[in-house]
Amino acid sequence: MNSPTLVLFTRDLRIHDHPALAAAAANGPVVPLFVLDDALLDGVHAAPNRVSFLLDSLHDLRVALADRGSTLLVHRGDVVAETMRVVATTGATAVHISADVSAYAAHRQRLLCHACHAGGIDLRTFPGVTVVPPGELRTGNHDHYRVFTPYFRAWRTHRWREPLAARHELRVPDSMPRPRPIPALETLVARRPSLQLALGGEIAGRERMRHWLANGIATYAATHDALSGDGTSQLSPYLHFGCVSPLELATRSLAATDDDAFVRQLCWRDFHHQVTAAFPAIAHRDYRPRGRTWSHRPDLLDAWRRGHTGVDVLDATMHQLRDEGWIPNRARLIAAGYLVKTLGIDWRAGAAHFMDWLVDGDVANNSGNWQWVAGTGNDTRPNRGFNVERQAHRFDTDGTYAREHLPALVAAGHMEETA
Ligand SMILES: Cc1cc2nc3c(=O)[nH]c(=O)nc-3n(C[C@H](O)[C@H](O)[C@H](O)COP(=O)(O)OP(=O)(O)OC[C@H]3O[C@@H](n4cnc5c(N)ncnc54)[C@H](O)[C@@H]3O)c2cc1C
Repeated sequence: MNSPTLVLFTRDLRIHDHPALAAAAANGPVVPLFVLDDALLDGVHAAPNRVSFLLDSLHDLRVALADRGSTLLVHRGDVVAETMRVVATTGATAVHISADVSAYAAHRQRLLCHACHAGGIDLRTFPGVTVVPPGELRTGNHDHYRVFTPYFRAWRTHRWREPLAARHELRVPDSMPRPRPIPALETLVARRPSLQLALGGEIAGRERMRHWLANGIATYAATHDALSGDGTSQLSPYLHFGCVSPLELATRSLAATDDDAFVRQLCWRDFHHQVTAAFPAIAHRDYRPRGRTWSHRPDLLDAWRRGHTGVDVLDATMHQLRDEGWIPNRARLIAAGYLVKTLGIDWRAGAAHFMDWLVDGDVANNSGNWQWVAGTGNDTRPNRGFNVERQAHRFDTDGTYAREHLPALVAAGHMEETA
């Protein structure tokens, strides 16, 4: 029997279309491991909504692996130290990991590489976090793409790999340790998650994908900008945690419709990931500095965060963010546009608040989009104007969205309830 391979899961919490797991399983016994990373749990990434969704996903993955004769080890601590400890216990001779792009993920991968090298362990990285791996598409100058439309053209005509089926069985080494219980949410976070948070995990994600491809995608081009109604897939947290493979979703979307509108959004995700891979400081530094001076107005920032601006559509957005940990793209654009363009407040303050609450909060997508709105990112028209009233009128014409998320105002008689 070949020696075991350790698969270090990160934000690829699935068994379908998982290249790192498939390659390990093809080679022999597999040791699946997830490490609740102290460095992440102590920082901004410990947002209760994402930790809750993560724990759901780990439970779900453990069951899926158990159904295949294996399990998921879940440890807590330093990710490199824990990985090397499990390597030593199980006699694994290789570690597989899905390549990722944030500054933290790249740093973790470098540390893991050094530790594996020192221990004579083979570290292999695999695709799986995006449709097309960052760096695979290059401009004529061998650089990353800075503008979306040419990237989309290249992405759309690029030959994608085939999605991989889930294996029916996985071998485990005799040396496999007994899995420890997955910690309870209260032991990891100080604040309660949002009450209407989506359920995490691959089962829920695949069910949502199936439902979306059968019922939603056909009308996406017409419905995706409306603030109320289910005009978008709401698959973002499943994509963020890798419960759904972006490649499988994109491939199945193209089979379901001739309209590129939906895969174009998946391409935006890939686009921001390849920008982040090339510019890992994206969460902190302006991608394209414009020498702008930001207003220091803690009172206005606080009112924006709390949903106390008096602008219904904005306040509704902030209530939805707190209640559900998710808001539609158009609401994100309006909230961000108001903060940076109307109030003149630094995009980093808004991005931090979003990261605190969003269940799909993602370094590449959040920072990339905030910088796009602020004009410091990849927008080819960085000075475009912004008018919150016009946005509200256009995308929440009859005020349904505001009424849905501001029940206190409805109750106080400031707004009429919809029939
Ligand atoms: C200020 C701001 C902050 C944002 N922060 C995040 C974030 O932290 N995490 C996140 O996943 N998305 C973020 N987005 C992008 C987008 O708003 C969400 O991905 C989308 O609203 C998620 O809902 P959905 O799954 O229903 O999207 P759908 O419209 O169904 O789109 C399908 C998928 O395409 C991707 N996608 C769609 N729009 C974008 C976009 N503009 N940029 C990148 N990917 C996109 C997402 O993965 C999404 O799940 C942000 C946008 C703005 C304007």
